[in-house]
Amino acid sequence: MESIPQHLMNFEQACRQAGLKMTHQRLEIFRELLLAHNHPTAESLHRRLRNRLPTISLDTVYRTLSTLAVYGLVNRVGTPESLARFEAAQTRHHHLICRRCGQIVDFQWPLIDDLALPNEIKSWGQIERKNVIVSGLCQNCLKLPG
Ligand SMILES: [Zn+2]
Ligand SMILES: [Zn+2]
Repeated sequence: MESIPQHLMNFEQACRQAGLKMTHQRLEIFRELLLAHNHPTAESLHRRLRNRLPTISLDTVYRTLSTLAVYGLVNRVGTPESLARFEAAQTRHHHLICRRCGQIVDFQWPLIDDLALPNEIKSWGQIERKNVIVSGLCQNCLKLPG
């Protein structure tokens, strides 16, 4: 696992390569996303950022995350919820998602990573990510009534 400063250095380099301007806000948003291990929504990331950046707007956080997602620097995690969840693009992993409490857990699945893609999608274009979402009810939610 890389350290936070290492990740930030990689991030700055990736932004430069993508031709994205490195702003203080962009860096802070990415840093906060690295520190948050719960795949936060833009809203919850905004709440955390306001402690250090009192003037940052939710709109800025949204737009920054969307821009970074287009360049593959952050991942938008597909969930059944309407609000998008984000994570810093890091090592390859898959997601377990609880459909009741919305908790997202990372897990490794090397067998899937090594699996060849079906022939019929090979001509589609350039595949960059292959992510599996496993969903259901987590242990905590299973204990709840109803
Ligand atoms: Zn749950
Ligand atoms: Zn994840």
